Amino acid sequence: MSREKTGKIERYRVADGREFTVEDPFYLGSCDYCGWVGSTEEARGEDDDVICPKCFSSGADCGRVAEGAVLIETIDPN
Ligand SMILES: [Zn+2]
Repeated sequence: MSREKTGKIERYRVADGREFTVEDPFYLGSCDYCGWVGSTEEARGEDDDVICPKCFSSGADCGRVAEGAVLIETIDPN
């Protein structure tokens, strides 16, 4: 993925209490196959096919954990 960062940061909390920080334009992704959760910056592939960095399954942009995550705060320095 090669997109420009804007400096805007979002913090999420997932169901098990872990928190994740992602920087725009990336977003929170998760993998239903191996349990990976993190910024799509770590993942491979393009917007419509996010590949899990751990098990290389596709569809890591719309895993159950990421869909259930709660946005805690947005930090926008601009
Ligand atoms: Zn995976």
